[in-house]
Formats: sequence, C-alpha cells, structure tokens
Amino acid sequence: MQQALMQTYARLPVSFHRGEGAWLWDSDGNRYLDALSGIAVCGLGHAHPAVTRALQEQAARLLHTSNLYGIPLQEQLAATLCQHSGMERVFFCNSGAEANEAAIKLARLWAHRRGIRHPVILVMENAFHGRTLATLTATGNRKAQQGFEPLVDGFVRIPFNDLEAVDAAAREHAGIAAILVEPVQGEGGIRVGTNDYLTGLRQRCDERGWLLMLDEVQTGMGRTGSWFAYQQAGILPDVLSLAKGLGNGMPIGASLARGEAAELMQPGSHGTTFGGNPLAARAGLAVTETLSRYALDTRAAELGERLQDGFRDRLGGLSGVVDIRGRGLMLGIELDRPCGDLVKQALSARILINVTAERVVRLLPPLIISDDEAELIIDRVGTLVQDFLASAN
Ligand SMILES: *Cc1c(COP(=O)(O)O)cnc(C)c1O
Repeated sequence: MQQALMQTYARLPVSFHRGEGAWLWDSDGNRYLDALSGIAVCGLGHAHPAVTRALQEQAARLLHTSNLYGIPLQEQLAATLCQHSGMERVFFCNSGAEANEAAIKLARLWAHRRGIRHPVILVMENAFHGRTLATLTATGNRKAQQGFEPLVDGFVRIPFNDLEAVDAAAREHAGIAAILVEPVQGEGGIRVGTNDYLTGLRQRCDERGWLLMLDEVQTGMGRTGSWFAYQQAGILPDVLSLAKGLGNGMPIGASLARGEAAELMQPGSHGTTFGGNPLAARAGLAVTETLSRYALDTRAAELGERLQDGFRDRLGGLSGVVDIRGRGLMLGIELDRPCGDLVKQALSARILINVTAERVVRLLPPLIISDDEAELIIDRVGTLVQDFLASAN
C-alpha cells in the first residue's frame, strides 16, 4: 500500500498497532522493546496515562480555534516552559524545523535592527536542524542538501566543539548575528558539546553581541538528564528550539527567547495556523507536569550512567568499538565500520534502535524505562553489536 506515498523513507518491514510504556506490538502480536521512542519523541513512553487522559478530555472539549483568539492552555504551557528554561517568551509551532525557522527569523530581525544588511548565522559541521529550505541549509549534511539548490544565503559552517573556529570565523566574516548549535548533535552521531564549549560560546556571543541559539529539539525535555542540556553547562541561551519530546507524539514545537530577542516579533511578523492549539498545548502540559512530578530528568541522568556503564562492561574492550558516549538517555556506540545492517538485525531481535552517521548506533529510550528494561537494552544491544562485529571479521 506504500505506492500512494512519496518515497521519502526506506521503511522497515514492520508496523505497530499498539504501544504501552517502552513496548510496541506489531500486527502479528510480536512485542518489541522500544529503545528509540519514535526518535526522541515519546519520552514518557507509549500510551502514557496522563497524556492519554489529557488528550481524550481535550478532544471532547475543544481542538482548535486559531491564534486569532486567546488560548489559555497555550499561555499556561508557555509560562511553564519559561519557568523551567529561564526563557521569557514562547512562539509555538508544529515541528522542530519550524522552531528553528523562527529562530533564524529572529536572528535576521536582530541583525537588521543593528544595521546589518546581510546577516550571517554560524552553524556546525554534522549539524541537523530540519528539512525546510533554511533549516536544510543550516544542516551540515551535503547528501540531504543535494538537489535542493539554491540553498538559503547567510550561513557559515564551522567545526563543532571548536572555539578557535568561532574566533576565526569572527575575523573572516562580517555581519555575524548568531550561532545556531545543538548542545549534543543527534543525527550527526551523538557528539557531545563539552561544557567548556557551551560556556565559551556564551562568552563569545556576549562579547560580540551575537545571539546564542540552541537547538534542543532532540536534547530537550529531560532527555539528557536535565530539562535542557545547557543547564548542565550553567548557561542560558538567547533563543531555544524545542519540539520532539514536548508533545510525547502530539506534533508541537516551540521557539523560546529572552531579553531583546523575546521582543523582536510583533503582530504580523510571524505566525502559524495550528501552532499551540488547545489539543497540542494540552499534550505539552501533560508532558511538563509528568516530567516534574516524577523528576524524569534526574531519572534520565541516572539511567544514562547505568546504560553507559553497562555498555562499557559489555563492549568496552572489543576491537571494532571506537567509542561509547552520550548524555542521559541520548546514547551512541560508535563502531569502526558502517553498521546500518544492525537496524534490521535489531528488529529480528525485537528491539528498536537506530544507526546514524553510518557508524553510530543511536539509542533514545523512553525516560520511563525500569531498571530491568535498561538491563534488557544493554543485553540485547550488547549481543547484537558483539554478533555484528564477529560476523564481519
Ligand atoms: C529532529 C530534529 C529537528 C527537526 O525536527 P522536525 O520536527 O523533524 O522538523 C531539528 N533539530 C534537531 C536537533 C532534531 O533532532
């Protein structure tokens, strides 16, 4: 039946009909352990009762009115997110790419206000920011960009985790207005930006009057062991992009800002029909309330250490394993060879994983997994990687 779909994905030969917590069931009743969470979306797992109840109740009451009118649930979610993030204002949208689009537009407004006519945004090698034209341009993946030229003007790419490259760019390029960066690169292979890197970026942005715009679409909402990854470096960004984990599966994105950046948008500057509608906002509120109530950010930190330790015990000494790394429940196992085949082998072993940047096994399990489920992930993924490396030798 996939002939009617544009072939944007090479899909795995399985579809799921039901989920509960960290588990999914296919049409034949087979049960799979979900160590991917729909790509860092279902942080609370599948069919979380708080989210289900909120959506059922809201669906029966009011889905959508548009942003022409007040939306109390949206206001409430904005206040909650600001309280947890240290940001001051929120623009709600429907995806990560849209959140980054809003950030890019903010950088342009910021620059024009300062008389910069051709503003430049610094972006990183191996970055991922989305698939719209501007966010695709910001994305550091030539293959993803191929065929979509001409790309958008006003981006300069530099290496990730490299403060000297920032200083060099500052000398070479006029009109820099902002830095857009993921605190931990997700699609790029679970590359962790060090705390020194993030504080160094903050310092440079302060000195030069640039906006620090953090793309926490994947790292946000407790995933890395704190509500937002930048909190572990003790800094605040000027602009913050959220999406994936914010709705636990309800599509919702958000662009948050503070200080002058929060005041740039005026009526008519930007907009969206669906963004922050009552149903999506209600899902976001159920997520934020559940994250707080069960301190799932702290739990993610604890589980992340347990998983990293488990994988180090299991795989650490193996030749073929280059690195085991991550933050919280954003984990990567880098191998010395392409390992895309592991995804299908994992499916046969009834566990859902992902491979990114060709050689990195990526794990993004739900924040609600039990200790036993964490052990099961270590065991199943450990065996898969061991067998994979043994068979290829
Ligand atoms: C997934 C992702 C995006 C894009 O989000 P969409 O909802 O697919 O548009 C942007 N940035 C990062 C860091 C992501 O992981």
